[in-house]
Amino acid sequence: MHFFTPKRCGTTNKIMYHDKAQAERAANQSFIERGTELWVYRCQYCSTWHLTSHDPDNAWVHTPLNQQLKPHSRKKGYKPRRR
Ligand SMILES: [Zn+2]
Repeated sequence: MHFFTPKRCGTTNKIMYHDKAQAERAANQSFIERGTELWVYRCQYCSTWHLTSHDPDNAWVHTPLNQQLKPHSRKKGYKPRRR
């Protein structure tokens, strides 16, 4: 099988994702396929997005995966009703 070869960061040797959504999709995929929880963070060296398998302690930007797993059930333009 032939997969596209992702570019890797020269500093961290992690796969480079050029946008956050792409990285999150890969993280979701990993969770579904392997049950591996991954966090998405922005690399300070190459300024693309990487995945990390452990909660980064000194993370610049990171998003817990469990917050990303929710399907986009909200309709566009939905606003919570105020009382
Ligand atoms: Zn990097």
